Amino acid sequence: MTTLEIRDLHVDVTPSDPDAEPIHILKGVDLTISSGEKHAIMGPNGSGKSTLSYAIAGHPKYTVTSGTVTLDGEDVLAMSVDERARAGIFLAMQYPVEVPGVSMSNFLRSAATAVRGEAPKLRHWVKEAREAMNELDIDPAFGDRSVNEGFSGGEKKRHEVLQLGLLKPKIAVLDETDSGLDVDALRIVSAGVNRYAERENGGILLITHYTRILNYIKPDFVHVFVSGRVVESGGPELADELERDGYERFTAAVAK
Ligand code: ADP
Ligand code: MG
Ligand code: MG
Repeated sequence: MTTLEIRDLHVDVTPSDPDAEPIHILKGVDLTISSGEKHAIMGPNGSGKSTLSYAIAGHPKYTVTSGTVTLDGEDVLAMSVDERARAGIFLAMQYPVEVPGVSMSNFLRSAATAVRGEAPKLRHWVKEAREAMNELDIDPAFGDRSVNEGFSGGEKKRHEVLQLGLLKPKIAVLDETDSGLDVDALRIVSAGVNRYAERENGGILLITHYTRILNYIKPDFVHVFVSGRVVESGGPELADELERDGYERFTAAVAK
């Protein structure tokens, strides 16, 4: 069993403007995610949800000013981005950029090589990748296209879940995996996430603005995220409350 533990995490964001001061975004996040658990983080826009996922993944723009992140007791914050991936942490927003000239299959094989520590045998890889694409209803021609070049929102999300299936991380952070998906795509993508969770007994941190995806990926724990902190944690019933009443009760309490 694997446990990702986040304790009193404070994070500053460095704006692109070199004259601007760093902005304090995360203000003491506490969260523990273990294998086989599905956690949903829900919060209003701008509350710092993506900042949390970037900080876990080690994005250079995000500076941890205090607090700890550990994976089975190992200091994640001391690891490079690649080391975090090798240790079994996956961020689905990891590669949102277009990479012209690099085909999807080559990209995925390099990612698998980096995580596994050796290159998958080409013959096996072709079969593995084809099966994984099949499960997500992805056209095999997709493998020949450049990474994210001209991908629709839905294709990018499928690509993220494809990576999840192939890289088999221990803990997966999925940031707004539902955004831009129509109902059919949402169903396929959610099924992929659920398959990963079952097969790998993975721990999932599902970050979302809307409750819609939670009809397909059933969380064990729901955390309300406001102003850079988890302000309340509970079971799935908390998502039902948010669906019904919105974030007001929580944002009002923080504003006081
Ligand atoms: P969420 O994902 O919950 O919508 P974010 O983590 O994206 O929230 O953003 C939290 C806050 O940090 C917002 O006010 C946003 O404007 C600010 N922020 C995030 N990244 C940057 C950045 N690179 N430069 C300046 N401000 C940023
Ligand atoms: Mg946002
Ligand atoms: Mg976000």
